[in-house]
Amino acid sequence: MIIGVPKEIKNHENRVGLVTSSVRELVSLGHQVLVETQAGAGIGLSDQDYESAGAVIISNAKEVFTRSEMIVKVKEPQAEERAMLSEGQILFTYLHLAPDFPQTKDLIDSKAVCIAYETVTDHSGKLPLLAPMSEVAGRMSIQAAAQTLENSNGGRGLLLSGVPGVEPAKVVILGGGVVGSSAARMAVGMRADVTLLDRNLDTLRELDREFQGSVKLLYSTEEAINKLVPDADVIIGAVLIPGAAAPKLITAEHVKAMKPGSALVDVAIDQGGCFETSKPTTHTEPTYIVDDVVHYCVANMPGAVARTSAFALNNATLPYVIKLANEGYKKALIDDPGFLGGLNVIYGKVTCKEVAESFDLHY
Ligand code: NAD
Repeated sequence: MIIGVPKEIKNHENRVGLVTSSVRELVSLGHQVLVETQAGAGIGLSDQDYESAGAVIISNAKEVFTRSEMIVKVKEPQAEERAMLSEGQILFTYLHLAPDFPQTKDLIDSKAVCIAYETVTDHSGKLPLLAPMSEVAGRMSIQAAAQTLENSNGGRGLLLSGVPGVEPAKVVILGGGVVGSSAARMAVGMRADVTLLDRNLDTLRELDREFQGSVKLLYSTEEAINKLVPDADVIIGAVLIPGAAAPKLITAEHVKAMKPGSALVDVAIDQGGCFETSKPTTHTEPTYIVDDVVHYCVANMPGAVARTSAFALNNATLPYVIKLANEGYKKALIDDPGFLGGLNVIYGKVTCKEVAESFDLHY
């Protein structure tokens, strides 16, 4: 199969659909990979690196789109990219169509076969192509909290770990899924005083086995949160109710009750955020202050560590890319119901229930 990798054009997106190691595997399986010039520049992969891996470097996106049977990307295609898709061409990338009618309409009109990373599930119903970015964001949330606590950023002037003779910072993590458990691992590694809350008892039991007492694990109730908030130095928001907006677990009243210079890191901001005072921020201006509490609410945290994120994403997507390339989309999707769940639009028809429902489209 001829596989195309255009350079990402969305603002501040440095990741790339296929890294060189993925290209090498696909080429060794007999596929041809066309990579737009400079596609990997943002993560330190040069055109020469791609050529050494067996890719053919193409000077412009138009030619990549025209010549490829499958396009592998990271971000949803922008309007000018959507205009270059063709009938029957496979598009494999993050799409997030439900809130985006213009994109949905263009993909319908393109008659391309559009498979979204974020709706592929594995045998246990989990989201294997979202998990790597949650791991990155979860780990990064503690890094962000550590910086936010520094005096120069408006923080309390605390070192997460403390030092011998001075107590560590108190970190409260709301949610113990992929983001929350990754955050807990980092916070424990930094020797903070960590408490994690979740509503799923099985999750709490699993984390109890892992952490062996180094993280306090609590069932998430309003009362438990009320007790923890005034004493917390850092609160990480990592809850998710699939398909719904994040619940506002921390209210504006809670924020008022926090110590000046405490840090709120709302990773769940991409689902509306779980703090009442949260609003999305960017990497250029990641924080703002409400009632003396510093808020970090960056909606695309993995974008700041594009190289790690691109490799982590490829580790998860490559087996699926190989399946599509080796078997064609029909066999690859029919053989794996979880992979079929990734199909959002095909030959002008919406095949994802949630997307169809959000625009009242025929499904
Ligand atoms: P997940 O499904 O693995 O975990 C969510 C956890 O929240 C579950 O364990 C669930 O039981 C728990 N939960 C639900 N309601 C709760 C409540 N009231 N109190 C405590 N816990 C509760 O999801 P995830 O992969 O960890 O993602 C978490 C959030 O982070 C999502 O909104 C996701 O979109 C977001 N995210 C953001 C970024 C970013 O850059 N900002 C990156 C990756 C993921």
